[in-house]
Amino acid sequence: MNMWDGLFGGLTRTRDHFVGGLRKLLSGNQLDAETLEAMEGLLYTADLGPAARKLMENLRVEHRRGALSNADDVEVFVQKQLLDVIGEAPGDYQHDQHDGPFVVLVVGVNGSGKTTTIAKLGQRHKEAGQKVLLAACDTFRAAATEQLSIWAERLSLPLIKSEGSGDPSGLAYDAAQEAKNQGADVLLIDTAGRLHTADHLMAELEKITRVLGRCIEGAPHDVLLVIDGTTGQNAITQAREFQSRVAATSLAVTKLDGTARGGAIITIRQQLNLPVRFIGLGEQPQDLQPFAPHSFIEALFAE
Ligand code: GDP
Repeated sequence: MNMWDGLFGGLTRTRDHFVGGLRKLLSGNQLDAETLEAMEGLLYTADLGPAARKLMENLRVEHRRGALSNADDVEVFVQKQLLDVIGEAPGDYQHDQHDGPFVVLVVGVNGSGKTTTIAKLGQRHKEAGQKVLLAACDTFRAAATEQLSIWAERLSLPLIKSEGSGDPSGLAYDAAQEAKNQGADVLLIDTAGRLHTADHLMAELEKITRVLGRCIEGAPHDVLLVIDGTTGQNAITQAREFQSRVAATSLAVTKLDGTARGGAIITIRQQLNLPVRFIGLGEQPQDLQPFAPHSFIEALFAE
């Protein structure tokens, strides 16, 4: 499946609900106060959050100016507004311009899709001909290591893990050394998503970050916060909690295929003030894409 098909297919539920709903509303009705109100409701149910109110404000102004004469005008206006809110996206990693292993520390609450995202990233880099190393630094949960091991085996990617309950930062150190020794291009590190206290989790992640920086210059080069795109406002609250403690540098928003609320990506982008780097569109290794705002909006509004 090519990228466009993956994106188009993955956004089907959001497109049907949001764009389908919008078209139905606009084709059968005059663009009057009532229609505009219904439209606002639709934006909220697509999880556009505060962006919805702003968008409608701007739309009403345009409408009063007489700049929107038909349904197509409205649609084009909505697309532009959404692109404005999304802004730029950092895109895929540019580690070719980089000496030594490029290190990505992957963080997020359990169940957000961390492990799957690491597997998908590993697969992408491997396909691009790069040497990948995975590290299972969630040493608190045996199941987490187990799950990453299964992926590593399935994708034939080397994995550093501890036997028994090792120390996460010690393991991160070993992984960084190993990445250097092997001449790996990319080191992808899984971390714990929950410890018994948030302070404990934070301290652990800080320690891992310090250790990595000591082994490899500038590491970690990205702290990728993974969040579940289906859980809406809840995901944002969780991510904020995380963000207040760990300095994430970009986002991966997962499970956009499983939801009609794909608009959440826009709210997430806006409320967390962190750029979305990747989007998850399924459970298979190929179902991860660098987030490209124009393609995203195009696929969302495609016929
Ligand atoms: P972790 O606990 O954060 O490591 O989360 P996992 O990687 O184990 O993912 C939790 C569940 O979400 C698993 O069942 C994954 O298959 C599923 N998942 C992860 N990413 C996606 C995605 O982009 N789309 C869908 N549909 N499911 C996903």
